[in-house]
Amino acid sequence: MENYSMMLPHYSIGADIYNKIPEFCKPYGKKIIAIGGHTAMSVARPLIDEAIAATGLEILDYVWYCGEASYENVEALQNLPQVQEADMIFAIGGGKALDTCKCLSVKAGKPVFTFPTIAATCAAVTTVAIMYHPDGSFKEPFFFLQPPVHAFINTAIIAAAPSQYLWAGLGDTIAKYYECTVSSRGDELEHYNAVGIQISRQCVEPLMKYGTKAMEDNKKQICTYELEQVILAVIVTTGIVSILITREYTSDYNSGLAHAIFYTLTTLPHFEETHLHGAVVGFGVLILLLCDNQMNEFERIYQFNQSVALPVSLEDMEITAEQMASIYPLVSSTKDVQHYPYEITVPMLQQAFAQLAARNQQN
Ligand SMILES: [Zn+2]
Repeated sequence: MENYSMMLPHYSIGADIYNKIPEFCKPYGKKIIAIGGHTAMSVARPLIDEAIAATGLEILDYVWYCGEASYENVEALQNLPQVQEADMIFAIGGGKALDTCKCLSVKAGKPVFTFPTIAATCAAVTTVAIMYHPDGSFKEPFFFLQPPVHAFINTAIIAAAPSQYLWAGLGDTIAKYYECTVSSRGDELEHYNAVGIQISRQCVEPLMKYGTKAMEDNKKQICTYELEQVILAVIVTTGIVSILITREYTSDYNSGLAHAIFYTLTTLPHFEETHLHGAVVGFGVLILLLCDNQMNEFERIYQFNQSVALPVSLEDMEITAEQMASIYPLVSSTKDVQHYPYEITVPMLQQAFAQLAARNQQN
């Protein structure tokens, strides 16, 4: 049998959670370099400065992450004297800022602590950084074994962030459960894969229960129990599942038809510029469920999408039936469905979109 290690996320959550920074960070040294997005740092900086005042911890500098998660920017950051002098990295912001710092942490051999300021992805706790070319086009996932040392999830900051981030996060989080359960169906699973797939149910249930209320609260910028449950699902649960099901560094179980629909749609001109990834993936879940003949789940997610204004129709996504039909043949060739238990055929997609159109007629 193979010898292997698993390292799972550490996190703290709450409206005053930065008070825990000294407790978790002091064992790693004194000098900190904080790197993040402009807006994120402007919001988090006063709270972090206050939390570490008179604790012996020192922030050498707050530095912009350079705006793109690229190896070029990671190298530029690594060359800064204040980065070289630091004992640890504080990563502050959304997915790209956090991923830049996670990659830097591995390259520079310094521990990284994350401070997510939005809840759109699970980047704060995962063992992968999604890397891009300097021009913003996708390059590759950069995998590593150790997640960030600790994530400080400040629910007051996230509650005050624009609600479109959480909105898009909902779609991706729901997809995690349906994609990994279908993609792994019939396989003899390793322990970590099996555990991850079982946990993934918790990516869906809290959203069904609290998602609508959480979106309302986020729009009012108030931090509530319901919002916290959804933030936990989007960042923590999804992150734990992702780590467990990508142990082999493949996306066999970490993707599926909802993402295949998204990536196929990005071949349409200007589609990606005007649509948020997670919202389109949330639409793709409906097609996944119809193709998989999970009619009760389809109705549940359809109603949920409607309740939070995630797309349920091609009109919602501003594309025509002809445009969609023209790219059916591409769906089955995306890598996202290469590990599917059955082939996604054009007639299967035709039927699913016809069923969806029929359901939309009932409104
Ligand atoms: Zn996604």
